[in-house]
Amino acid sequence: MKHFKKYFSPILIFLVFEAVGVTLWLSKDNPFYLFNFSYIGLSVSLGFFLFIRKYKHARRLVQLLVGLYMLVYLGLICRENMQIEGFWYYLFAGVFEAATIHYAVAKIFGPLIFGRGWCGYACWTAMVLDFLPYKTPVQPRKKLEWLRYAAVAASLVFVGALFLAKVGNIERIMFWSFIIGNIAYYAIGVALAFVFQDNRAFCKYICPITVFLKPMSYFSLFRIKCDKTKCVSCGKCERVCPMDVDVTDNSIKRKNGTECILCMECVNNCPKGAL
Ligand code: SF4
Ligand code: SF4
Ligand code: SF4
Repeated sequence: MKHFKKYFSPILIFLVFEAVGVTLWLSKDNPFYLFNFSYIGLSVSLGFFLFIRKYKHARRLVQLLVGLYMLVYLGLICRENMQIEGFWYYLFAGVFEAATIHYAVAKIFGPLIFGRGWCGYACWTAMVLDFLPYKTPVQPRKKLEWLRYAAVAASLVFVGALFLAKVGNIERIMFWSFIIGNIAYYAIGVALAFVFQDNRAFCKYICPITVFLKPMSYFSLFRIKCDKTKCVSCGKCERVCPMDVDVTDNSIKRKNGTECILCMECVNNCPKGAL
């Protein structure tokens, strides 16, 4: 019973993913969904299990397991564009499959429960950026967030124009835009990380997906909370946070609250166990 309580969260996470997988398998009559959500659920719950066992690289392991699966298997082998253009494409085509399901689960409704867990544990762009040397920002944030809205608008105009011009074989264009888009994301992401000495600069200023993630994660059920009776205001949590979150403030409006990627660096580094 003691062990069950301790490992309740990884079990629950796995069951939630299984429930989604089974529901989609039966409703869409496609067993792929069962495989897909079982794999992701197993990877995420393994990460939580290892985190509870205090394995230092638990998050990075999940990020690689899920990120590589999505990039290599779903993107390159199955040729599904899971980037934002793929989302617009399926949305305009009126199809609730692949990218639209992915966005609904990971980036629109899921964040109401697990916030920006996607950004900490699954994104294949950040999976690479997190290997770079600037794990915590050394400079204050720049006022460049408007760039992410420009990126959303550009993707929308691009896919909208393809539909309006009735271009043939859009699926092929989507596949190539996935390849070119990812190369561009990695190139820009790495360049920004070195310019701003911040691995997550791309996430903070350019990534168009944050336009969905931030408003939804504002209401996230899962949040890091600070036990004020233990906190000694040493500031270490804020210093190690890659996203500049004021995690000692428990209010929903805390500074950069919608930027939290649930990486647990603050929790692991708090000397008083206050988080
Ligand atoms: S902000 Fe964008 S690039 Fe960064 S982790 Fe999230 S989805 Fe990936
Ligand atoms: S690291 Fe812990 S003790 Fe220090 S300010 Fe943060 S929550 Fe408080
Ligand atoms: S260090 Fe803490 S507050 Fe900062 S992103 Fe990670 S989990 Fe969130």
